[in-house]
Amino acid sequence: MVIAAYYVTVISSAPQLLRVALYCAVSVSAFVAVFYGCVRNRPAAKLPWVLLGLGQIVYATADTSFYVAHYILDDLAFPALADVFYLGHYPLVVAGLIVLIRSRTPGWDLPAVLDAAMLAVVGGMLSWLYLIAPQATGTAPMLVKVASVGYPMMDLAMFAVALRLVLGQGRRPVAFSLLSLSLLSFVVADTVYVVQQVNGTYSAGNFLDAIWLSGNLLLGASALHPTMGKVAEPVPFGAPVPGPWRIGALCTAVLIAPATVLIENARGAHSGIPVVACACAVLFLLTIARLAGLVSQQRKLAITDALTGLRTRRHFEAQMVPELARARRAGGSVAVLIADVDHFKSVNDRYGHPVGDEVLIEIGKRLREAIRPGDHLARYGGEEFAILIRDAGPDDPAVIAERLRQQVADRPIVVSGDVWIGATISVGTASYPLHGDTPGELFGAADRALYSAKAQGRDRVVLADLSGHPPVDQHAVRSLTLDLEKVADEVDGWLSNHEHSKVVGYWSGLVATGMGLAPEVAGRVELAGRLHDIGKVLVPQEVWTKEKPLTDEEWLLVRQHPEFGCRLAKTVAGLDDVAEIIRQHHERFDGTGYPGGLAGAHIRIEARILAVCDSWAAMLAERPYQKALTEDGAVRELLSGRGTQFDPDVVATFLTLHRHRRLGPLPLLDPAGKAPAGRA
Ligand code: GH3
Ligand code: MG
Ligand code: MG
Repeated sequence: MVIAAYYVTVISSAPQLLRVALYCAVSVSAFVAVFYGCVRNRPAAKLPWVLLGLGQIVYATADTSFYVAHYILDDLAFPALADVFYLGHYPLVVAGLIVLIRSRTPGWDLPAVLDAAMLAVVGGMLSWLYLIAPQATGTAPMLVKVASVGYPMMDLAMFAVALRLVLGQGRRPVAFSLLSLSLLSFVVADTVYVVQQVNGTYSAGNFLDAIWLSGNLLLGASALHPTMGKVAEPVPFGAPVPGPWRIGALCTAVLIAPATVLIENARGAHSGIPVVACACAVLFLLTIARLAGLVSQQRKLAITDALTGLRTRRHFEAQMVPELARARRAGGSVAVLIADVDHFKSVNDRYGHPVGDEVLIEIGKRLREAIRPGDHLARYGGEEFAILIRDAGPDDPAVIAERLRQQVADRPIVVSGDVWIGATISVGTASYPLHGDTPGELFGAADRALYSAKAQGRDRVVLADLSGHPPVDQHAVRSLTLDLEKVADEVDGWLSNHEHSKVVGYWSGLVATGMGLAPEVAGRVELAGRLHDIGKVLVPQEVWTKEKPLTDEEWLLVRQHPEFGCRLAKTVAGLDDVAEIIRQHHERFDGTGYPGGLAGAHIRIEARILAVCDSWAAMLAERPYQKALTEDGAVRELLSGRGTQFDPDVVATFLTLHRHRRLGPLPLLDPAGKAPAGRA
């Protein structure tokens, strides 16, 4: 409306003073708006706006001086006082934009710098050929030349900085778009103005005034818009891959240079060709730099774990080779640490996967803080981390691993605002040349140590041992153990609708710990509990689900399942103890159990524990030949079985845990439910 009103004053023969007043009022309104916006919208970074506002004061002074001279005083001199102000406002605007860019993206944002530079070089080339050079080589007096060349130069500087602002990272609220449009208006109007000055076609009051007025109004609108405060807010620097629009714009811009050579050549104007050739060379170098940046960004992405920002396993393993070679040459040592989060599955189960992710990110952060700058850290697997320590002294692996463990265990992890999670890690370490020469040997040794840390109760550091035992492939052991666990689950599914094996393993571990037994023992009995029924898989399923009384042969088979289970477990290296516990879990304290008829202390303590936990789970489950007991009924059974079926000490600990509600209910296997059946 203001613009329309201005043109009404231009077309109609309204008093010149009114026209000038209207034009200058718009100029003045822009800086008033900027300062008022600073007060009202309270931007965190005020300096950019203050500089833009100061620039606008100078600009409004220039406008006033220009239009008063042109319309009122009829003084058309060039350059005039107005030009001093016009040229003087650019440095303030450019400085304001630079401060704004710095506060939006605190880093360098090199891709945006290169993209802006490419477009600016093309702009600069055209400006030089068609604006600056013609003015500089003309016959005009020196002062006119300086002023005429000054405008395109200043515009070019503003254009370059504005491009960097628009192409850079950062939020793009409405106020940002308004500011960008304002800058665009000024650059376009100024450029056309200089072109018209060169052609001699400029006359005050032509359409350019509309563009300048729009620029002023847009600047004011940007400052007054409620999102103004967000324009200078910093954002984390992410350097996205350039989209099709940007690539299209860059290609078009770069192709303008060779197109200009052709045009100049066709016109027979060869004087500009050296400038265009230089621009082509610079554009080529900028393109190469941009490509190199993209390649390095992609490489970084490829070796970075997306969740934690740590290096990937593949990168870590690749780093091992040169690190080992270096240590070999220098006669030094390298240590490998593998850290695995303890019971992480239960964090996911309890709080959900997103919280699990936050926990992993925080653990990754803590580990990074605890290692030295030259050492390597990677996310090695789902909830496993690997650390490579260079130039490791003899005590370093133990000391550093313990520091990592404490970093995680000593402070709870606070996620999603107010959920506190106490996480721990187990760490296995191995070093070159003590435990192996190759990455494979070192990982194997560290992994075995980690497995041992888990077996010993977790939240601890275990160093690889030097014993001459034949090396056991712990990966294979773990995966075979997992296979046996699947067998246990399968059998559970045949026999009842409860998670029998898992919960018996869990209770057995609790009882062992409650009895003050060593963590290794607790770990062993937990695993034995988890696997105690696997032998049942070798007895036909019909026998377990039969409702009629069993034949003698069938009873014989049923009573052999501990022996079968023992043999199955023994097929896995390192599970001999667990196998023996499985064999003994149906022995009775008074010696009347099977298969060995062992009594009292001749039965392994783990098997005595397992017998109580197994019976408790069996008593609480519904079976075809016997109704489920209540917990009170099961307590009475345990008490009456003391000294005959069960070890009295185990029963005492078990009932204490029960009283303190540490055991929990017998969990259901599958909510859909299978028909309750089965014999223990
Ligand atoms: P242990 O103490 O024996 O290591 O027990 P654990 O539960 O940590 O070990 P397990 O290997 O049984 O479970 C690892 C879990 O880690 C299972 C998997 O769902 C979880 N996990 C793996 N990767 C991610 C991930 O990126 N995010 C989340 N939230 N969980 C993950
Ligand atoms: Mg784990
Ligand atoms: Mg794991």
